Amino acid sequence: MSTIIQTDNLTYTYSGDEETAATVALDGVTLEIERGSFVVVLGHNGSGKSTLAKTFNAVLLPSGGTVYVDGMDTGDEALLLEIRRRVGMVFQNPDNQIVANVVEEDVAFAPENLGVPTEEIRRRVDDALEAVGMTDFTLHAPHLLSGGQKQRIAIAGVLAMLPECIVLDEATAMLDPIGRREVLNVIEGLHREKDVTVVLITHHMNEAEQADRVIVMNDGRLAMDGTPREVFSRAEELADMGLATPDTIALLRELKAAGVDIPTDAVTVDDCIDAVMNVFAGCAGKAAQEVPPAGGVTFLLPKKTPKNHLNLWFKNPFYCSGRL
Ligand code: ADP
Ligand code: MG
Repeated sequence: MSTIIQTDNLTYTYSGDEETAATVALDGVTLEIERGSFVVVLGHNGSGKSTLAKTFNAVLLPSGGTVYVDGMDTGDEALLLEIRRRVGMVFQNPDNQIVANVVEEDVAFAPENLGVPTEEIRRRVDDALEAVGMTDFTLHAPHLLSGGQKQRIAIAGVLAMLPECIVLDEATAMLDPIGRREVLNVIEGLHREKDVTVVLITHHMNEAEQADRVIVMNDGRLAMDGTPREVFSRAEELADMGLATPDTIALLRELKAAGVDIPTDAVTVDDCIDAVMNVFAGCAGKAAQEVPPAGGVTFLLPKKTPKNHLNLWFKNPFYCSGRL
């Protein structure tokens, strides 16, 4: 795999004024993002995630160090257009990203500005709307759509530039659970089927489940970098940085703390279910495992509990003492 984005000892300082001091938002960040990968960026508020994202398409230029996109130095003004074409950004508030009164015009906006020929634009708009599942809304008014639909239109607008990489900065933060799921499905589909590189900044730990890689920012520095399993197995360090672990890991750790012999690194719901089933499934109708009373967790799982039941159980605040 080759590298699409590379930062080398990147620093960024917001200059202050008479009333406010300067803020060092990024402090010596060195990382590489592989072409075609799905990278999730986590970190508490103010840890530098948005600043980092903005350096990826030259919205912000480094105060120190360098950022390369496809080998192009973002500090080179002559390359700005090429860089913005390769790395598209989707932001938190869908309403701030709508520029036209008709969906197809909104999606066509960026390529039109770049002087893409009309027939080519038509094709790109149709393809982009199809990729986000919004073909039926081509002639609708964007401001009447739901939040999730608006974000899908914003993603289509980025796709119409044919980018290699999409950076989503808390793009699901203002959406209801249905809208969030819609947008995540679209993003996962783009990654899986179209090989788009995805950098997903989020504070929903569970969105990191499917990532190839998780980066954790803390106070402007790269604090962790690894697979979801590697990163989430460091739960205490994450907690010190004000970050939770995904529900799956939290459940497994709680069981472990209650004396259940279970691995605690299964991040995805399916892997977590498998881990739980491995320990408990053979114990139909009986207390599955003796646990210390202090732990207070006793499981009674009927034999062959269907996976979808467990799924529901996981999705409901599932911290569980009791029976299914
Ligand atoms: P995150 O996205 O992780 O919440 P940011 O990159 O937005 O973090 O912010 C990193 C640091 O930079 C914070 O201390 C924040 O207050 C500061 N900061 C962000 N934007 C500005 C700005 N426009 N002017 C001054 N300071 C800023
Ligand atoms: Mg931010």
